[in-house]
Amino acid sequence: MPEHDVLVIGAGLAGQRAALAAAEEGASVGIISKVHPVRSHSNAAQGGINAALNPEDSWESHAFDTVKGSDYLGDQDAIEIMCREAPDELLHLEHIGVTFHRNEEGKMGTRAFGGASAARTYYVADITGQAILHVLYEQLMKHDEVHRYEEWFTTSLVQDDKGNVAGAITRNIRDGSMELFRAKAVILASGGNGQVYNPTTNALICTGDGIAMAYRLGAPLMDMEMVQYHPTTLQGNGLLITEGARGEGAHLYNANGERFMEKYAPNKMELASRDVVSRAEQTEINEGRGFPDGTVALDITVVPRKRIHEALREIVNVGRDFAGVDITTEPIHIKPGNHYVMGGVKTDTEGKTHIPGLYAAGEVACVSVHGGNRLGANSLLDTLIFGRRAGQDAAKRAHSIAQPAASETQLADEQAMIEGIIRRDKESGRRVSEVKAELGKIMDEHVAVFRDEAGLRVALEVVKELKEHAKNVYVDDKGTVFNQDVLGAIELQFMLENAEAIVISALERKESRGAQFRTDFPERNDEEWLKHITVATGGGGPELDYSEVTLTQWEPEERTY
Ligand SMILES: Cc1cc2nc3c(=O)[nH]c(=O)nc-3n(C[C@H](O)[C@H](O)[C@H](O)COP(=O)(O)OP(=O)(O)OC[C@H]3O[C@@H](n4cnc5c(N)ncnc54)[C@H](O)[C@@H]3O)c2cc1C
Repeated sequence: MPEHDVLVIGAGLAGQRAALAAAEEGASVGIISKVHPVRSHSNAAQGGINAALNPEDSWESHAFDTVKGSDYLGDQDAIEIMCREAPDELLHLEHIGVTFHRNEEGKMGTRAFGGASAARTYYVADITGQAILHVLYEQLMKHDEVHRYEEWFTTSLVQDDKGNVAGAITRNIRDGSMELFRAKAVILASGGNGQVYNPTTNALICTGDGIAMAYRLGAPLMDMEMVQYHPTTLQGNGLLITEGARGEGAHLYNANGERFMEKYAPNKMELASRDVVSRAEQTEINEGRGFPDGTVALDITVVPRKRIHEALREIVNVGRDFAGVDITTEPIHIKPGNHYVMGGVKTDTEGKTHIPGLYAAGEVACVSVHGGNRLGANSLLDTLIFGRRAGQDAAKRAHSIAQPAASETQLADEQAMIEGIIRRDKESGRRVSEVKAELGKIMDEHVAVFRDEAGLRVALEVVKELKEHAKNVYVDDKGTVFNQDVLGAIELQFMLENAEAIVISALERKESRGAQFRTDFPERNDEEWLKHITVATGGGGPELDYSEVTLTQWEPEERTY
């Protein structure tokens, strides 16, 4: 039975940064990932990471932009920490080997990102996530006290009889064996839930596992209604065209050739915050000024060709391979698409959740620095700052307590649960993929850029029905080696719990703020709704509650770009 001081579930940027920090504090660390760590979703991050590193910039300006971007729902104490600590974190990355782009003077180069009042996004071409992830992985390999469990899938968290988190149950994907991992502290760093929607920019592994596992223990989820639709995704497959393209100067046009952002955000134009740009695009499309394929056009040809090949080279490949478009010579059709969940497991600024010994950091968590809308390039920063802080605090906890008792009963229960799924055949129910496709479609139809009560109620009914179907799904693969089929059935249950939390929170928030635009409540209403919505499991199902938004120095005001 593996035993560690700190167990990190997830090996993307948040998990690796947490593991490194905990190891540096002298803790023994186990880090688990259902895929090889450098295949974690952080690998897909393209455009960059924000920090007010330039002496003419300031962390206060970065913090204000983030508060405004969040539509005043972000907690300002957490935002202050993130923006104040960003420059040192970035320099730390540089010193351990991340090859950030340098400008002609040899200084670290920046690009402008949406909603920012200064160009403060640092980048490695358009592979920033990959560059950072690989460097952190090298660092982890230097530490003997970090044990990596690569291609292990966690199915549930374990508590002792006093309610402390005491470990996790995990399946070795390579051979199907299962283990109870014991730990004094567990950090969830298991990423977002984009697969609840279809299409999405997110990888197949982003199924909200950690959000659902924490929820099952009774940890409140916060801001779950806040789901970001990114303005530039490809029709059909959801692939992302980085905001870096607009940062480099690309324009948006409707089918009449109008640069429509003039109407919606005359000052920031294409670089308004994502919720504003996505709504503008969707309005153009809904009102008949889009192209017949339900898109508008992103024109990157205004960026010099040499610069495109230097700074957006992966996007050149994406355009060519997935849309048949040479972005250096012609506009590419794009639309808003599911991208990011601002909500997640509610934590404090050290990553602590409401369950003793359970921490969360990165996209799985809601601290809440993004509030109603995340600014581009603030997520990588969030993963690193709060991953580090969670790792440090978890190590401190581990040094101060004895190993909690973890009973093996749950291990047997989880084994039985998996065997139960494998035993089912065609007569038992539906295929996992069918149920998942139906979920993705209904969420994209009714819980997207524009929402209303009638649509949300339809989505809730379907989600509830699909939850019943998910109990009986069958799998074709009956084996033990790399049985992704059976893991898909478990992920489906996780996704449906995420979906339910999203929809009931969206129904509850009767106003429009950030990514939540209710056509039946089109105004922001600070008097009644300047508060977080939380969802936790009660005896009879999900229960809603509220918590205050922390304001430090910025009073809510009208938000224009
Ligand atoms: C295409 C794309 C481009 C982006 N570009 C940017 C950008 O330029 N700048 C920016 O700031 N943000 C960007 N983002 C957002 C950002 O990449 C993510 O929010 C961030 O990387 C999430 O990191 P994470 O460490 O929280 O989770 P992830 O990187 O998703 O890692 C999750 C980890 O958890 C593991 N895991 C999950 N479930 C289980 C389980 N049940 N058992 C075991 N392991 C599990 C996975 O294997 C993985 O290791 C982008 C997002 C997308 C989709």
